[in-house]
Amino acid sequence: MPGLGARKLDRKALMEYALKVLASRAHSTAELREKLVRRAQDSADTDAVLARRPQLALVDDLAHTNAFGSRHTKRFLDVEELLAAGIDPATITDVVVTHLHFDHAGGLTHLADGQVRPTFPHARVHVQRQELADARRNFGVMTATYREENFHPLDAADAWHLLDGETEIVPGVRPRLTPGHTRGHHSIVVTGRDRTLVYGGDLLPTRHHAGAAYNMSYDLYPLENRASKQKLLAWLAGCDGLLALDHEIDTPVVAVRPDGDWFRLEPAAATG
Ligand SMILES: [Zn+2]
Repeated sequence: MPGLGARKLDRKALMEYALKVLASRAHSTAELREKLVRRAQDSADTDAVLARRPQLALVDDLAHTNAFGSRHTKRFLDVEELLAAGIDPATITDVVVTHLHFDHAGGLTHLADGQVRPTFPHARVHVQRQELADARRNFGVMTATYREENFHPLDAADAWHLLDGETEIVPGVRPRLTPGHTRGHHSIVVTGRDRTLVYGGDLLPTRHHAGAAYNMSYDLYPLENRASKQKLLAWLAGCDGLLALDHEIDTPVVAVRPDGDWFRLEPAAATG
């Protein structure tokens, strides 16, 4: 991956969150390890894609660290395996990112012959105009939130397609504005034949962030994020849509149900 170097992250917040979750579930280390291995085995996504060879495959969070026991430690290595199976990155026409934090935009570029280059040389990269402007000036709560090496190779390639709202990107795929985590954050709505699926980005990264009062310490505007979350969950509950959670290990795709004055998430498989 490009630009891997020293990272200054809010590790304390991450660790506190992880410990809280683990403590609340009272897992022993052995139980946790077994659970993670089972989860990794359950999500053999690379094999499924290779077997089905679909015309369209959406892969999110390229810089994501896979669950313990996965074949590859990082998701971009899964993608490299797909590419090695005969998918030419030069044929990719459109890439959509929810926002430009490095764990979402890190796969837009890669290092080749000592130069940082676009990973998909002929693709248009869709992002909100506000998000790119904020990324350029590192408008965030962490010093290393945005990485310029993920952006400037795309300038040279004239790859940016800047959005000012919710215009359809390709047939069946459009952004939905969900500001709060960043000002220019959008979710991605994929309209299917039977059901709609929304990839929510960092709006609610795990199912533990579904509650009204729960948000990431990285959110720039927690109250606005809460409002965006409420609107999206209400819409999904109303249309029986599916929600893909970008940093969730246990139940990455869920259905949304009304629950009192808020909502609850159900594993999608349980909804039929
Ligand atoms: Zn983020």
